[in-house]
Amino acid sequence: MAKLKKKEKNVKKNIKPIKTEKADEAKNFKVSKKTPQVLRGFKDILPGEQRYWDLLYAKVANLTTDYGFERIDLPLLEETSLFIRSVGKETDIVDKEMFSFVDRGNENVSLRPEATAQIARAYINHGMFNLPQPVKLYYLGPMFRYDRPQSGRYRQFYQFGVEVLGDKQPVLDAQIIIMAYNFLTSIGLPVNVQVNSIGCNNCRKEYKVQLVNFYKSQKHDLCEDCKERLPKNPLRLLDCKEEKCSAIKEDAPQIVDFLCDECKSHFMKVLEFLEELEIPYSLNSQLVRGLDYYTKTVFEIWPQAEQAALDKQPEPGAEDKKAQIALAGGGRYDNLVEILGGRPTPAVGFSIGLERVILKIKELNLAVPEKEKRDIFVAQLGESAKRKAMKLYETLRSEGFKVAECFAKDGLKNQLEVANKLGVKYTLILGQKELSEGTILLRDMDAGSQETLNFNKVVKDIKKRLEV
Ligand code: AMP
Repeated sequence: MAKLKKKEKNVKKNIKPIKTEKADEAKNFKVSKKTPQVLRGFKDILPGEQRYWDLLYAKVANLTTDYGFERIDLPLLEETSLFIRSVGKETDIVDKEMFSFVDRGNENVSLRPEATAQIARAYINHGMFNLPQPVKLYYLGPMFRYDRPQSGRYRQFYQFGVEVLGDKQPVLDAQIIIMAYNFLTSIGLPVNVQVNSIGCNNCRKEYKVQLVNFYKSQKHDLCEDCKERLPKNPLRLLDCKEEKCSAIKEDAPQIVDFLCDECKSHFMKVLEFLEELEIPYSLNSQLVRGLDYYTKTVFEIWPQAEQAALDKQPEPGAEDKKAQIALAGGGRYDNLVEILGGRPTPAVGFSIGLERVILKIKELNLAVPEKEKRDIFVAQLGESAKRKAMKLYETLRSEGFKVAECFAKDGLKNQLEVANKLGVKYTLILGQKELSEGTILLRDMDAGSQETLNFNKVVKDIKKRLEV
């Protein structure tokens, strides 16, 4: 008894009280009486949409198995500082788009806006540097960005991504690009790879000086954000989506002219691999990607039709419109693991936005497999027949038949309507009469003919007809 009391006391000691102001917040919360609606920028994925997702998930499974990647699932919530340290303070993602809040334990947390930073964290946390290198991981799941919602841009969206950690060879950059390219083209999407190198910290030093000089001379025409970013992170200006900044960007110095020998040679090798494999690519000197952690190779994959349309459109901002329709993006990030406290670990990866891929599939009317068809429908009339029919349904299912039912409906007409809609070959009908005679009716749905079968032999009989 004394022991139990002590235990209870300990348990009580460990329960942290919810902070009073937080509890009050909940108490004082004004609950809306309106029917709740899905939040802006969020979406329900309804059953009718699932075949697109099934297709993409199947492609992910095939591709990652082929290339030897293993799945990792990461939490949706992380310490806010993880993203500030990796993606970067001056980036749009961290600066404007994070869903961040203080939790009940006073921790600053954020819904993940992307997964590469998490992968680097997990690599360090789980000592993956002790595994044979490179470590090849893939992820699939929702990301969250408080962006302005529009077509192809949501506040919750799904990404499929791969990361290779622990090797710096250019062949890996090329293979990552090829994987993303293969994923999209295997679905039937005509795409083009945009590729650039943003060098390493060494070659960026001189480039940054030149960039600052260039932008200083144009300062009065820049947007307010860019004016502020110029002294802190001039590279970010190349990523600005404001129209007036895009126009200025056209004449900015190009990073490729400043690459050090090592970065230049790395980039050339990546391009040679792409050429060897006949991957259509365009060099895009303005592509810098909006995240701090990238080094050397960066790339995006754009839908071909839109790229062509925008190429014809000479107005400023066309480049940024293209970036907004990017289906995939990625690159090398050789310093990220070290920035987060791990040992130097070169790495490269990509992520693909699945909603954007689905939008394209629909737009181009590409073939998507229909839901697998059912072969047999079990219909019943009357309470005792329903019991028997349920049992027959379970037997057929466990024997491997593709079988359907609608036990919630009692009338035969209604049940046959469902069977018709499902496009089954046969409907088995069990009524009071059949039950007492030990038989069952088999209706051939195409021919509209019916025959009586022996109930005890029905499984065998159907098996023969369908050759299961
Ligand atoms: P990022 O992580 O910004 O490099 O984006 C990689 C890919 O994720 C993009 O190419 C898009 O396909 C997709 N993506 C990024 N942001 C969004 C968004 N707000 N809504 C839908 N898809 C997005």
